[in-house]
Amino acid sequence: MRHIVIIEDEPDVADLLARRFSSEGFRVATASDGRAGLHAVHLYHPDLIILDLLLPTMNGWEVCCSLKANPATHDIPVIILSAVGSSEDRIAVLEMGADDYIVKPCSVKEVIARARAVLRRTERAGGMRRGREQADGGGNHPDCG
Ligand code: CA
Repeated sequence: MRHIVIIEDEPDVADLLARRFSSEGFRVATASDGRAGLHAVHLYHPDLIILDLLLPTMNGWEVCCSLKANPATHDIPVIILSAVGSSEDRIAVLEMGADDYIVKPCSVKEVIARARAVLRRTERAGGMRRGREQADGGGNHPDCG
């Protein structure tokens, strides 16, 4: 079963996503702030992370950066789900290693479709990517500043 961690501080959005992903056959864990989200990722090592950007305790950029800088978590695909939608914001977080960016408001159907697409992509690339990263000594980790 696919495991997904949803890091989102708006309870309505988190609940809706959790329910819909569960009914699509995902095992779901949710976290309502950045630090709890990181903790959940380390605890469950999910197949996919849905990450809001504006979060208490630690924002989504920091969470993404921390995940992508850590060899234990940098392979886990991250989909950003945020009302923050300027192209600079999108570029910054995609360059940090996020796999997709969905601007709120959006339909849950779209989130699920994109999650499936990202999972398909990472599953196809998985073996190849791991091989390459071993060959160049772990790959380039983003600079967390
Ligand atoms: Ca938020």
